[in-house]
Amino acid sequence: FRINIAIDGPAGAGKSTVARKVASALRYIYIDTGAMYRAVTLKALESGISTDDDSRVGQLADELDIVLLPGSESQQVIVNGENVTSRLRTLDINRNVSYIARLSRVRKRMADLQRRMALEKGVVMDGRDIGTHVLPDAELKVFLTASPRERAERRFKELEADANLTLDELEKEIAERDRLDQEREIAPLRQAEDARLLDSTGKTVDEVTEEIVQWGLAAART
Ligand code: C5P
Repeated sequence: FRINIAIDGPAGAGKSTVARKVASALRYIYIDTGAMYRAVTLKALESGISTDDDSRVGQLADELDIVLLPGSESQQVIVNGENVTSRLRTLDINRNVSYIARLSRVRKRMADLQRRMALEKGVVMDGRDIGTHVLPDAELKVFLTASPRERAERRFKELEADANLTLDELEKEIAERDRLDQEREIAPLRQAEDARLLDSTGKTVDEVTEEIVQWGLAAART
């Protein structure tokens, strides 16, 4: 039968790539929750709302219609009818998203939407608080990490368009985002007690995917 799989971990650990491949191998639905926080950040920046204004950003998040569509390369994010996918992975969003993600109203709204998306089992959801907070009953929980350098290198490739940033600077930015995510009050980034730790340093995407698929198949049999 079908189960839910939660994949959490720090920035650049390869969660999105791996989660999408695991979902496709199992014919499950893939949900990238980071993209949802990024979408709220995009709209808050566009509206000129301060990233620490819980009440205004929260209201904005409540009113946003966020639809996630599976795509061949990446999940497509539609906000109020507009496809914003190509605008979510910029330096500007990277630098602001962890402030938006600290706001209690935003987190509540995102978690509500995410739980609704996972009501019907057969979901692979990646994020920071999925195993600990959003889907505490997920049948398989994975905490995916990699060395800071390798994570920076992966994000470096993603950011090619904003090329005026060195690998060292990017590594510092990622460390800062992880710090904010770990130190926030509500649903901070951490490994759930019943999550399996998977260090992807030096492993290929296919190796990591295969390991999680096998865990998923085993969990679905029990
Ligand atoms: O996974 P991604 O790097 O796209 O996530 C962007 C940011 O969104 C994270 O750094 C974190 O601040 C926030 N986030 C979160 N909870 C999640 C997913 C993402 O707080 N479940």
